[in-house]
Amino acid sequence: MAAGTPLYRPPPPLLDDACALFLDVDGTLLEFASQPDRVRLPPQALAVIETLSDRLQGALALVSGRPLHELDRLFWPLQLPAAGLHGHQFRGSETSPGSTVPEALSHFKREALALARRHQGVMVEDKGSHLALHWRGAPHAAEQVRALAAARIGDIAGYRLQPGDHVVELVPADVDKGGAVRTLMRERPFLGRTPVFVGDDLTDEYGFAAVNANGGWSVLVGRRDDSHANYGLADPGAVHAWLRANAENPASAFSPPTEQT
Ligand SMILES: [Mg+2]
Repeated sequence: MAAGTPLYRPPPPLLDDACALFLDVDGTLLEFASQPDRVRLPPQALAVIETLSDRLQGALALVSGRPLHELDRLFWPLQLPAAGLHGHQFRGSETSPGSTVPEALSHFKREALALARRHQGVMVEDKGSHLALHWRGAPHAAEQVRALAAARIGDIAGYRLQPGDHVVELVPADVDKGGAVRTLMRERPFLGRTPVFVGDDLTDEYGFAAVNANGGWSVLVGRRDDSHANYGLADPGAVHAWLRANAENPASAFSPPTEQT
């Protein structure tokens, strides 16, 4: 779907068992809170996600800007396939956030913390190799936060700005959620399935583009006119209702692709 399309998008159909489901977390499964470490999953949501994951033979993954250890904490006791830090981390990968932090990013962090001290409600979230500046608690400071990030990004080699909902992140330039989806789709149990990506934010557009290019479905949570998504759900409550309907939907007779011998 091209930019400039109407705000209204139809709700996604129910999944069939040949789908692979990729879920963003904040703003998609979780309502936003002024502090990301304070949000919690609604009751019963975990059971629905587990049922649906079983139905899809494990082809349900989280694709989030959060690091993996936070995803595991939020979804405990489930340990779902996941791409953390926008696809910088995969479960079982050797990527270690914090192991390759450029000096210029550390310098920028000190400047950002100084700005946060001047504006109560601005929050600097250190994710190791990524840095997020939140202003949900300080909307008056939005322009100053954005201006500081825009002024400095050119000094931090190999990094780009990732704007989001009341946040701007500094992330490695070669990392985005589209790459995360493509990486996961190369392996079982995702391989050969129809990819479905559900997300709310600008960073999820990379995921939408990746699934659209592979004959999948892209589902925008909330409304935005400049989105690649071809379906829409109003808010996290609507996402959970859709997941519940999918978990209760009788399984179809999908056979995953067999090994080439
Ligand atoms: Mg989100």
